Amino acid sequence: MRIDSLIFTLAPQLKNTYTKGHNYVMVCCPFHQERTPSCSVSTEKPVFFCHSCQEGGHTSRFLRQLGMGAEAAREAVKGAGLDKPRNRIVDGLIAKYQGKNPYRGQFILNEDLLDDYRLAPKSLISAGFRKETLRHFEVGFDQDNFRITFPLRNVYGELVGISGRAALDGIEPRYKIYRTELTSRTDFGVPKEYDMEAVKSSLLWHGHLVYPLLYEERAEEVLILTEGFKAAMAIWQAGYQNVAAIVGAYLSDTQSELIANMTRHACLFLDNNPAGWKGTYFAANRLLKKGIKVVVARYPDDREQPDALGPREVQQALRDHMNVSEWRQAHERVVSEAAWKGFFRKALREAGQRREEGAF
Ligand SMILES: [Zn+2]
Repeated sequence: MRIDSLIFTLAPQLKNTYTKGHNYVMVCCPFHQERTPSCSVSTEKPVFFCHSCQEGGHTSRFLRQLGMGAEAAREAVKGAGLDKPRNRIVDGLIAKYQGKNPYRGQFILNEDLLDDYRLAPKSLISAGFRKETLRHFEVGFDQDNFRITFPLRNVYGELVGISGRAALDGIEPRYKIYRTELTSRTDFGVPKEYDMEAVKSSLLWHGHLVYPLLYEERAEEVLILTEGFKAAMAIWQAGYQNVAAIVGAYLSDTQSELIANMTRHACLFLDNNPAGWKGTYFAANRLLKKGIKVVVARYPDDREQPDALGPREVQQALRDHMNVSEWRQAHERVVSEAAWKGFFRKALREAGQRREEGAF
């Protein structure tokens, strides 16, 4: 069923729904209260965008907000023929990977797995994250293992993994991609051999919500990239929707192809420490090779991560960005070490490697 017909039948409670041209349905936004529709849902691509509250993203998210189950929403998007971003580059990539879609992953997790992690982690709230932000990023808490949970979704919005960050110092490893935590839950049929580490390097965290915005040219075209989850959330909370985390310090080849598919402009906002500098050097080179324009955020002194900055400082760091050669000059030592000590080879290995469950 076409998505517009679906919306008309699904939501008789949504008053004043109307079609706009051939490509959009205008609907009263389910993410905020309103009487006249300001939320447009595309009938050609799996995207929606609310012009009032700025919520947007994959159509399955819109359907879930209307009360549809996750499975039903996914089926509906598929049934409407919207499940594949139609793009030559993605098609080319699928051919390159011999018919396999590198972004799809081998196994899609059941959304109900997240039900056990619905609590808002107190430590993040006291660190200044708003509940709305935590909901947007679907951050939860795992009481059994005392970890903050971050769902990992591929570019289609499908759940392909869960990452758990230790809630307290001293719990090792600090970050881990869940495996035994999920395979032990027999009712969900997660294959024992499912390699979620490999999935990690094929996705951009929050990318499934940014992709439609950039694709529809509804966001500024620069994509802001961070290392970690909290950094991405801090930047989003400072007012930037188009932010994604590479979940680690080294940008993988698949990730850089995905970015090239989304945008021509990237702003690197990795951590301000030796690992982050090396990651920045590496990512900048990879992205430049793909023909992407790259700039680097300018940190105020002595601050290590975007989440250590207030919203104003985040805005300032982005406004005062450096171009790559300026950044290289400011980090001459890192650059010369990287060039002379085979750093590149090591980073390449690490970015491509399927590592055991553990720290990244
Ligand atoms: Zn809205």
